[in-house]
Amino acid sequence: MMKAAIYCRVSTEGQEQDGTSLQTQLEACLKYCQVKGYEVKYQYSEAWSGLSLERPRLAELREAVRSQAIEVVVVYSLDRFSRDPVHGVILMQELEKNEVALEAATETVDNSEVGKLVFYIKGYAAKLDAERRRDATGRGKRALLKNGKMPQGTGVGIYGYKWDSASKKRIPLAHESKVVKHMFEMAASGKSCFDIAKTLNDSSVPTKTGKKWEARTVSRLLTNKAYTGITYFGRTTGKDHKKTNEDTWHVLTDVTPAVISQELFERAQSALAKLRELHSGKAKHEYPLTGFAVCGKCGSPLVGNCLRGNYRYYHCRGTYPTASRAKICDAHYIRADWLEEVVWDKVKSILSQPELLLAEVGKQVENEKAHYSTGTMDKEIKELSRRLKGYAGQERRLMNILRMDLATPDIVLDEINLMKKEREADQVRLNGLIQAKENLAKALEMQESIKELCAKVVPCLDSCSNAEKKDAYTYLDLKISATPEGVSIKGYLDLNVLTIARTWA
Ligand SMILES: [Zn+2]
Repeated sequence: MMKAAIYCRVSTEGQEQDGTSLQTQLEACLKYCQVKGYEVKYQYSEAWSGLSLERPRLAELREAVRSQAIEVVVVYSLDRFSRDPVHGVILMQELEKNEVALEAATETVDNSEVGKLVFYIKGYAAKLDAERRRDATGRGKRALLKNGKMPQGTGVGIYGYKWDSASKKRIPLAHESKVVKHMFEMAASGKSCFDIAKTLNDSSVPTKTGKKWEARTVSRLLTNKAYTGITYFGRTTGKDHKKTNEDTWHVLTDVTPAVISQELFERAQSALAKLRELHSGKAKHEYPLTGFAVCGKCGSPLVGNCLRGNYRYYHCRGTYPTASRAKICDAHYIRADWLEEVVWDKVKSILSQPELLLAEVGKQVENEKAHYSTGTMDKEIKELSRRLKGYAGQERRLMNILRMDLATPDIVLDEINLMKKEREADQVRLNGLIQAKENLAKALEMQESIKELCAKVVPCLDSCSNAEKKDAYTYLDLKISATPEGVSIKGYLDLNVLTIARTWA
């Protein structure tokens, strides 16, 4: 049987008029406990203001809560417990800490006006707390960096080390640093990042987070100068030595012990550079649709591929296994000549009627202008942004009103609800305006691009280079989805409308 304490309160002015005398409250609470099957261990009744936290019988109740002599507090209604929501939060947190429930005989605690307000303030307090903590962390970090120490990294840290928070230094892990050394040696001997990842995965060596290695994870590790004993804080790779931001970029020499020599690091870098060169030299065939086309089966990008030295194809990237996953698609090769011809024919038919194209993009611009008029709406965006910023101050003001007992909680709750609604409405309106503004900007940009395209490409449609074709695809914002059986082509403008219009013309 749950042990309960009943708490009843009337204000000093006397509460007889509104029918909630101490007797009424006590009877209702006793009945409630009987229905619920609670054993009533204590009854506390007093005449005191609900805006004060220093109430003699309340103090006794809190003592009972702290000594965990009871499991549930029953009140007539939540405002009997406290009329000050800030106090309400304090009391409720005390109950929560001691695992004591709060129940009201005449209302559900969470849905009562005071309950809602308490809930709101709890959230507000948590938000303030989080902000204060964030600020303190930032200050601590800057102080550590000033002293040549490394602030505790977020996450698991870099492979090969563990983080020692006492000394603020990295400590090499024997097994992982052996793997690191092996990886640099493999790279120096000419292995690619892909091969290294595969070798590690095949011998079941996981990454720091227990995942499989990817070529790019390996590449990031192999370019990190920290392994030679130099720590850069505030940067992600060791590849680029340029300072980007004075505030966040620091060189720390005493934080990461070297696990490989400078010489091995350099050898690995030059071997990797040689591989990159070799790779770029291999691309002797052009694939102008790369970047514009995806697989019609799985949506992966299509990449160029040359079979038997001379036959160019596009192939779904999903059909290749990577270092960490098997293949995910079984789409067939698509003949490059065929696909490129289909796409270019379509684009050519559109470009051969530039006046239609320009009319269509003009229509689009007019359409977007109808949603957005520059002068008045910019003003409104500014006004809305200013108002949205102001709500934080309004929230603070309402909290102060509460703290200083200048208004009753229900009045403040009404204000808060009103403010919330206004804030939400303002945010929706602002988002809509920003979207409309972006759409118009995009339409205008498209109009310019397409004018440029028409001037450049249209006069020489039959002798376009691949570079010019790619320009056309870019300007039209082309998205191609293809299988060997069929092609779908979409652009910023409705390309079907453009080609249908042509047959009518
Ligand atoms: Zn595919």
